[in-house]
Order: sequence, then structure tokens, then C-alpha cells
Amino acid sequence: MSLDGRILARAMDRLTDRNNKREARTARLREEVYKRLPRVADIDKELTLSMIEAASAALEGGSDPEEAVRKVAEKNLSLQAERAELMVAAGFPMDCLDDKPLCNTCRDRGYVGSKPCQCLMELYREEQRKELSQLLKLGEENFEAFNLDYYSSVPDPGTGISPRENMELVYETCRLYAGKFGTGSGSLFFTGAPGLGKTFLSACIAREVAEKGYSVVYDTAQSVFSSFEDEKFSKNYELEETRSDIARYMNCDLLILDDLGTEMTTAFTISALYDLVNTRLAAGKQTIINSNLDIDEIRKRYSPAIASRLEGEYQKLSFYGRDIRLIKKEIY
Ligand SMILES: [Zn+2]
Repeated sequence: MSLDGRILARAMDRLTDRNNKREARTARLREEVYKRLPRVADIDKELTLSMIEAASAALEGGSDPEEAVRKVAEKNLSLQAERAELMVAAGFPMDCLDDKPLCNTCRDRGYVGSKPCQCLMELYREEQRKELSQLLKLGEENFEAFNLDYYSSVPDPGTGISPRENMELVYETCRLYAGKFGTGSGSLFFTGAPGLGKTFLSACIAREVAEKGYSVVYDTAQSVFSSFEDEKFSKNYELEETRSDIARYMNCDLLILDDLGTEMTTAFTISALYDLVNTRLAAGKQTIINSNLDIDEIRKRYSPAIASRLEGEYQKLSFYGRDIRLIKKEIY
């Protein structure tokens, strides 16, 4: 599972922001407590000092370091009791100035060793969700909301299979794919006319896979290729941002390339597509490509090499039937 560096950085920013706000709140409260109860301020100073004393006594090893530490602890106990009494009498919870992290596992640092903590991953998933909703520009697509009733039960004269039967199979394949997503899940090629649910189902997969913590990038072919072009033609100072876009397309666990074939195709986009498909296959990363084109049209429009990659390495799912958007218009 590879994490998206940009999204992880945003999650870490939120964690830091949360910590800063909490610290600022405690600092304000401390000021208030010390103003009303100057004795508590003195006690806190003494406690800090005696802790330093105890630490240095233990370090120096003197005649009886254990005895020294014990004495300090004893003295601290009576100071702490006095402090608690003063605080409670003034109406402050006695532990209100303590440093209480929200997460006990990492003490709000976000990492345990070099591994992101669960609390940071929770923020990561939220950020990923936000990012996806912006990209998808759709509602809250999920498999439960998919309606098979829009697909006719009349068998196709060519195949003998009805659009509905076909769609049931496509739907089940997508559900399983999302449910079992992991290394070795393979890549999918969705082909068929517009308005048959390709974008909807790939959005369902995107959401479910992202929920598991995988990095998912969803973008239209047009936008992906324009990033590649920007990298080629941009000035140096813009390069870093563009390269990080391309790094995300190349390295995310699941890339969904929507609407392939609706962009302006040039020699440049052909080589970018080949590069993208090949690099991701070589790295064992999964990709879903949505297109109105079938394999033969891909071969003609892009290249035989790309078509043979899709044919050999991608599972093809054909979408057919009548445009759902038109059916909806007739019903409502
Ligand atoms: Zn944590």
C-alpha cells in the first residue's frame, strides 16, 4: 500500500494545527489560573525544579541516589496535594493544565517510529475522501445506489444476452474487485457508449478502495495528459508541482483514467498513455480505464502496442444498453 505524499502532508498539517490549537488553549488557561492563583504558579515552578533535581541526583549517583529521588518524590506529593486543593477550591478541574494527548498511541506526534499512527491515517482517509469528492464531482456513489432496472431484459440479438444480464455480471465483477482490492487485483478496461454507468461504477470502486486506505487518483484523460504536457513545456519554477501530479498518476495504488478517447489525441498523448500504462503495469499497480472506444478503436487511435497491453493485461468489461440519462429524461 503506498500513501499519497501530498494527501499525507495535508493530514499531517491538520494534526499539527490541532496540536497547536490545543497548546494555545492550555496556555491561555494556564495564564488565567496563574493570575487568579499565584501560589499554583509558584508550585509549578518548584515542581519543575525538583524534577530537574531528581534527574540530576539520579545521574550523579551521589552517596544514595535512590534516597535523594525518594525525598524529592515525597516533597512533590505534598506540593501536588496543595496544588490540587487550590485549583478545586477555585473551580478549576485539577488536571486542566496537564498535557493530555488525544491519541495515547503516538501522543499526537502522528507517527510511531517511522509508521503513521492510526490517528494520522484517520485524517489521511478524510483528506482522501475530500479529494475524491472534488474530483468525482458526483454525489455519494455507492454500489447500493446502482439501479439495474435501467438495463433492458430483452436479449441482444447478436449475443443472446440481455443488457441487464450483462450489467449484473459487470456490477458483480466491480463489487468483488473493490471488495478484494489489493496487490494482484489486476486492471480493468471499461468500454461502451456514454451514459451506461462506467463513471458511476468506477466512482463506487474509487470510494470503496480509498476507504481501505489505498491511494486512489481519479482523473479524466484530458486532465492527465495536460499534466504531462505541462511538465514538458513548463518553466522550471512550475515544474515541482506538475511533477508531483505525474508522480501521483504513476505511483498511486489505483488510478482511474476516465473518458479516454474524448481528448485531443496527438503523438504526445499517445506516448504519455503508453508510458503511463507500461510504468504502472511494470510496478504491479492497478488501473481502471474508462472509454467509449473498443480495443480496435484504441489500436487505430493510439497504437497497436497500447491496444495489445489493454487486451493482454486488462480485464475488459463491456457496457451496453440504452443511455440512462435519456431513459431518466423520458421517465421524469
Ligand atoms: Zn496517534
